[in-house]
Amino acid sequence: MIISIASGKGGTGKTTVAVSLALSIGYCQFIDYDVEAPNADIFLKPDIKNIKKVYIKHPYFLTETGKDFSSCAEFCHYNALAVIKNEVIFYPELCHGCGGCILVGPQGAVREKDIEVGQITKGFAKPGIDFLKGNLIPGSMRSTTVQNELEKMVNSKGTVIIDSPPGNACSMVMAVKNSDYCILVTEPTPYGFNDLLISMAVLDNLKIPYGVIINRDGIGDSAIEAHCRNNNIKLHIKIPNDVQIARLYSSGMTLLDYDISYGQKFEKIFKEIEDLVYQKS
Ligand code: SF4
Repeated sequence: MIISIASGKGGTGKTTVAVSLALSIGYCQFIDYDVEAPNADIFLKPDIKNIKKVYIKHPYFLTETGKDFSSCAEFCHYNALAVIKNEVIFYPELCHGCGGCILVGPQGAVREKDIEVGQITKGFAKPGIDFLKGNLIPGSMRSTTVQNELEKMVNSKGTVIIDSPPGNACSMVMAVKNSDYCILVTEPTPYGFNDLLISMAVLDNLKIPYGVIINRDGIGDSAIEAHCRNNNIKLHIKIPNDVQIARLYSSGMTLLDYDISYGQKFEKIFKEIEDLVYQKS
């Protein structure tokens, strides 16, 4: 069973929830899909066993052959190439590594080389968590390439917890698309509510069931609670707005360090999700 933890708005406590759920279950695979800013390892403190580099193929052009590369520029749908007076101008940040320019360009005059875009870190965290983290190289725009590598390592025969990137863009869709269930973490503010509605629309489109956790309960208003009640959306839990939680978070501690009873609360949430997922299938 794959459970993803997502949030339309950044900074709502998504990683806090993902980590607390994983620690409460105890035995699972935890995948940090937030490749632009992965930070779950700060809380899970895994022993790192292996780091694998992720590459994308980029073309290079043997201009000294005097061949005409204009067919490459015409083909490139991403406008990663321009040919001006037989000089090739290549914009690496726009290249998707599709290899099309090699196929349509002058034979043998367009080659490929590996460009590192990120890393996959593998490790093990107590009590029984197989830890995986994707890390994008700063400045690279190939987050989905790193996420694709993570996807190959998902062990869907067991329990998988996915910490999704914030927002509702492509990288969030990549993270949640194979989930059996998604927990949406939000804060009870108009901004939080607005972004939550967008996340719900994305999940409705993907036909992924979801529930909500409200973090920083006590600020803002009760509009999210009313929305969940009126639309029959499961509100799993409300986490209070307590400065002590923020203090613990900033020193790498979890909700279970704040209050050990959160272990039971998250176990209960896991059971509820299990019932819902297996009842459906
Ligand atoms: S590999 Fe694809 S995206 Fe990159 S320059 Fe060639 S055609 Fe464009």
